[in-house]
Amino acid sequence: MKSEAGNREPETRNPKPETREKRGRGLSLLSGGLDSRLAVCVLREQGIDVEGVVFTSPFFKMEETAREAARQLNVPLHVVDFTRDILDLVDHPPHGFGAALNPCIDCRARMIQRAGEMMAQGGFDFVATGEVLGQRPMSQNRHSLAITERDAALGGRLLRPLSALLLEPTVPEQEGIVDRSRLLGLSGRSRKPQRELAQCYGLTRYPAPAGGCLLTEKGFCRKLSDLHTNEGLGDERLVWLLLRGRHFRLPGGAKCVVGRDAADNAALKSLRVVSDVLLHAVDVPGPTVLLPGGADDGDVSLAARICAAYADHGTRESVTIRIVRSDAAEERRVAPLAREQAQAWML
Ligand code: SF4
Repeated sequence: MKSEAGNREPETRNPKPETREKRGRGLSLLSGGLDSRLAVCVLREQGIDVEGVVFTSPFFKMEETAREAARQLNVPLHVVDFTRDILDLVDHPPHGFGAALNPCIDCRARMIQRAGEMMAQGGFDFVATGEVLGQRPMSQNRHSLAITERDAALGGRLLRPLSALLLEPTVPEQEGIVDRSRLLGLSGRSRKPQRELAQCYGLTRYPAPAGGCLLTEKGFCRKLSDLHTNEGLGDERLVWLLLRGRHFRLPGGAKCVVGRDAADNAALKSLRVVSDVLLHAVDVPGPTVLLPGGADDGDVSLAARICAAYADHGTRESVTIRIVRSDAAEERRVAPLAREQAQAWML
């Protein structure tokens, strides 16, 4: 194989972990992407007992892919809720954001730090990641990897098996728990060496590199930013609501969420709490609308007209909307707002 500078030749590898003596225990961040799978393979090849960990939040879609990877690699998987951590970082990112509201350097450092806590509690020898030097411009350059390592504070027990030969030796390498000579020196943005390694390890199924993090999507970040400014990020329910429906900020300050389909409508009903106002059309099919935290009467009236706007009102000039508050329910006949008009308040 033609390798990048410092890359090892995957053809020389001998993936038979079960024939080798177990020498240590590693906890590996397992997003389910190819690099994280390869990191597990490289470690297991030298007899290390590896378990995976994946972090979940409303913003990441990694859990299912990680579960599939854990099944493929036959490793135990720890699933850890990261919601509070990532919300704190969106609120105060010590190293700032990427192109949108993605605090990647701090996010990586916090995940590794959390894995480090699990390492200490679970008797692991080190934490591993599938990071490749130079693969991502913001979070995987040499400077960012050094910051991540410093902030995660694992005392030299953070191992990046795919790029280890280009980095300083870690404690598990110095202790002989990990054989440095069997680690790799991958770097750069090319995926070719990883694809070739995957073949060597018999990994025929793995996802194509993809974003998968809503914090990098500008459309989603408009809604998140609005929430941050108005209600703050303290209420996780409001963050989960961002994943559902069309979002409007009404002139009186109320948030208005309009279901786009039956799944959204059901989710809005299930996420409702007693202080919210719920609306739906009575005489025609239409969306469920939620005003989380309530609203003044002006905003409720406007929400009723928006609800009618997205209902199947055909040529009707008015629609009956049921409005449910904590203490009472009422029905009002309203004229549907033109959707173009409603979009003036859409986030
Ligand atoms: S893309 Fe998202 S999940 Fe990945 S490091 Fe950045 S903030 Fe974290």
